[in-house]
Amino acid sequence: MSFCNSPLKCLPQIARQIVGATSVANRHIVTAVVLLLLSYAVNAEWYNDKQAIMGTEVSVELWSEKSPAKAADAIDKVMAEMRRIDQHFSPYIKSSELSVLNRHARDKNTFSKPLPVSPELFKLLYNASAISDLSEGAFDITFASVAKFYDYRKGIKPDQQQITRQLAAINYKHIILDARRGRVHFEHAGVRIDLGGIAKGYAVDQGIAILSAMHIKHAIVSAGGDSRLIGDRRGRPWLTGIKDPRSEQDMAVVMPLENTAISTSGDYERFFIDGDKRYHHILQPKTGDSAREVRSVTIVGEDAITTDALSTTVFVLGVKSGLALVNRLAGIDAVIIDNQGKLHYSAELERPE
Ligand code: ADP
Ligand code: MG
Repeated sequence: MSFCNSPLKCLPQIARQIVGATSVANRHIVTAVVLLLLSYAVNAEWYNDKQAIMGTEVSVELWSEKSPAKAADAIDKVMAEMRRIDQHFSPYIKSSELSVLNRHARDKNTFSKPLPVSPELFKLLYNASAISDLSEGAFDITFASVAKFYDYRKGIKPDQQQITRQLAAINYKHIILDARRGRVHFEHAGVRIDLGGIAKGYAVDQGIAILSAMHIKHAIVSAGGDSRLIGDRRGRPWLTGIKDPRSEQDMAVVMPLENTAISTSGDYERFFIDGDKRYHHILQPKTGDSAREVRSVTIVGEDAITTDALSTTVFVLGVKSGLALVNRLAGIDAVIIDNQGKLHYSAELERPE
């Protein structure tokens, strides 16, 4: 699913008007045009803002040749869209549409009955299910049926009995999507959905669509580990670092990118250590335990909803199956850091020197 075409290339053709000018009247026009150009040049600059939304840091940086007020308006619109998406799809907000769906799924009297949902929620559920099919269930938004027992901040994890009892509720095939009527029901009681592996990417794509519609030609929108770029950084690529998963500040790799989306999933975002085990927020749906074959996965692709979902997916799949999946997909690249700290690259990616 893609919301944006490539950025519009619609530079004003003002220079040609200057070349053709001869008469006095035209000279005034020339002066006016030159002044206009100068004022463009004076206002043209980078603008940025960061805000805490969706439980993460959302940042927007863009190049604008319009007034600072217009640049600020563009950034505000992106932030407002992020807040709107959070209100709809956060599992922590009781009034969110996702919470309504989860209450419907939890109630023995309602779970098997169709519930009409918004086209937007339907689209997210549909996209999630496509990635689940692609990965044979490594990506599964019903992981939350067990994930609800974890509290990474407090260092709490479910005991084996809790996992065993709830494991049968993890299966994306329990979610029945009726595309014709825009309705959802469940084939199993007690299923719980969390869109944390896909919603931030969707929000980033929505932000980029807003900026593209405003004819912005150089920008980056990020929500935590998910980013998408419009154009380049004016004559040079955007440089996006992949964190060394076991260091506070070091980068493992820096990738020069333009006009693309990039997502990283890591085991260092939300975790606690118990004994010699790291418990973190990406779960292996088959076991309800954290996936531990790799430390981080970075996916590069056309849009952020795809790169976001695939970074979580490949994290669960591990190096061999993860790279096999990525190498099968056109326009998708991956950098994986395994649990020994070794880097692995997908087939099409140029390795650093
Ligand atoms: P974040 O930017 O939040 O770190 P990631 O892209 O790394 O996001 O994905 C992790 C999130 O994905 C988790 O916080 C959780 O909400 C969700 N998730 C965890 N395991 C799975 C899974 N197996 N399938 C789908 N979503 C998952
Ligand atoms: Mg992800």
